[in-house]
Amino acid sequence: MRPFAYERAADVRSAVAACAAGMADGAGAVYLGGGTNLVDLMRLGVVSPGVLVDVTRLPFDGVEETAGGGLLIGAAMRNSDLAAHPLVRRRYPMLTQAVVAGASGQVRNMATVGGNLLQRTRCSYFQDVTKPCNKRAPGSGCPARNGDHRNLAVIGQSESCVATHPSDMAVPLAALGAIVHIEGPGGSRKVPMPGLHRLPGDTPERDTVLEPGDLITAVELPPLPFAVRSRYRKVRDRASFAFAVVSVAAALDVEDGMVRDCRIALGGVAHVPWRAERAESALRGSPATEAAFAQAADEELAQATPLPHNAFKVPLARNVVVRTLLDLVEAS
Ligand SMILES: Cc1cc2nc3c(=O)[nH]c(=O)nc-3n(C[C@H](O)[C@H](O)[C@H](O)COP(=O)(O)OP(=O)(O)OC[C@H]3O[C@@H](n4cnc5c(N)ncnc54)[C@H](O)[C@@H]3O)c2cc1C
Ligand code: SF4
Repeated sequence: MRPFAYERAADVRSAVAACAAGMADGAGAVYLGGGTNLVDLMRLGVVSPGVLVDVTRLPFDGVEETAGGGLLIGAAMRNSDLAAHPLVRRRYPMLTQAVVAGASGQVRNMATVGGNLLQRTRCSYFQDVTKPCNKRAPGSGCPARNGDHRNLAVIGQSESCVATHPSDMAVPLAALGAIVHIEGPGGSRKVPMPGLHRLPGDTPERDTVLEPGDLITAVELPPLPFAVRSRYRKVRDRASFAFAVVSVAAALDVEDGMVRDCRIALGGVAHVPWRAERAESALRGSPATEAAFAQAADEELAQATPLPHNAFKVPLARNVVVRTLLDLVEAS
């Protein structure tokens, strides 16, 4: 591993300034959350920043209620603490379920909210510096297209990259329309999800809309009363310690057998946590039946363009959407 400097930031201003100074030096500077992804990638030689700015001691490690009735989650909050928080569990159960479905207890104790959102793809070629990869080395090619892509994207991918975003947490956040609070060299701004992550297009090296030096300080959950009836379902190759093959976060508001409102997002299918807007529109005002759920899922997945070895994800995603929505109806 290339030698690097370590700095611990005491406040946001000094964190952003330390990162900007590291970048100005040409050393390459990044923020360090729990390190559970970043340090692995440094060991593999995938990334080699010259400066790590530790942001885990910033005073953003709790949950606050917002004036509008939502929650503000600090970016330095550990994944385990987020999942266990009583307000999160009660108001947004799909978020707790998604976080608990990720990684292991030990990793969740270390991993932070900000780091989880910005973790990199698990595409095996990206992690192997002996192989070409447009995301790691722009212009070098994408061996996954004709190689191992069983677990890669079926929606929104490009000729340049077919990687998926690996975060479970990001899926319910996209369904909820969470707002990401950012401080950077250019000031403060807020980015609504699912707009934080980007489709790969011809610049797959950029996972998100963040600019160099941007620090995530918090994630705001808007109020969504019907999210008390929400669920996260994850299909994976083994029962724990595995990334999603396909996952679904869904919340359903049903009255007199009709869908008044709903939120649906898919994980494991795209370069971004995929908000299923077509399915949501199809469902609003429809009967809360298996047939309507299946039709809505089909409308969403009509835009899928799978590769030879991951076409199974399309019917899998459809079935997982339908089963999850039926579970929500049965639980009501
Ligand atoms: C074996 C294993 C299995 C896993 N399985 C799953 C799984 O099933 N599902 C899942 O969702 N995750 C899984 N993970 C991923 C794990 O959840 C991530 O490693 C973790 O969430 C990253 O959080 P971190 O705080 O450690 O981030 P770090 O590794 O510290 O950072 C990750 C990235 O975020 C940047 N960063 C960190 N904090 C900020 C901030 N506040 N602002 C701006 N940039 C920031 C860093 O610079 C880096 O680029 C697994 C990890 C391991 C090791
Ligand atoms: S899918 Fe993306 S991350 Fe994987 S090899 Fe291709 S360019 Fe690299």
